[in-house]
Amino acid sequence: MNLAALTRAGNIVLRSTIRVPSRLASQINYVSVNRDDEFENLSWSAMSDQAISYAFVSELCRGAAVSLAHFFKEPATINYPFEKGPLSPRFRGEHALRRYPSGEERCIACKLCEAICPAQAITIEAEERADGSRRTTRYDIDMTKCIYCGFCQEACPVDAIVEGPNFEYSTETHEELLYNKEKLLNNGDKWESEIAANIHADHLYR
Ligand code: SF4
Ligand code: SF4
Repeated sequence: MNLAALTRAGNIVLRSTIRVPSRLASQINYVSVNRDDEFENLSWSAMSDQAISYAFVSELCRGAAVSLAHFFKEPATINYPFEKGPLSPRFRGEHALRRYPSGEERCIACKLCEAICPAQAITIEAEERADGSRRTTRYDIDMTKCIYCGFCQEACPVDAIVEGPNFEYSTETHEELLYNKEKLLNNGDKWESEIAANIHADHLYR
């Protein structure tokens, strides 16, 4: 590479790899070569490409640093369904009909829950038994209508209908969410210990 090849508009650009004889040094107009000059002769499109490239690398490094930092931190998530988070005693999940320890149904067919249900999801039919007690012959809840307000549980004078802690009852069909008395009593039998513990934990506020 000769000196003439580097001459532009009367000035000479010097790069660190070029040696200039000392006798010519006084005749040379020096031009500062630094990072700002890199953009001097670039088009706007090339400059924006370069800026985006710098920004991307910088963002990439920052992202990698954040990922690395979180790798050593306590995870904010749990490994559901193998791990489950805590539930409030007031959690309103799947409905259940409870029994007394003797096995007798708690429900006395007063129909308060049916009357108060704002979604009209509860349907009850009742008749008197031979011993004079009143019991339901039909107790249906359309879980697809239910809005989980908890009014049925609040209205029940004998804690028969409750919303238990179970929230894992998704189904594939609509019909599976039309609960009858048998299904509700089975839920009560299955979740009785948890339901009783929740009612006890909340009894001061009832
Ligand atoms: S939770 Fe509310 S909407 Fe659901 S059955 Fe009870 S009263 Fe009706
Ligand atoms: S569940 Fe409770 S409120 Fe509903 S009919 Fe039975 S006793 Fe009455």
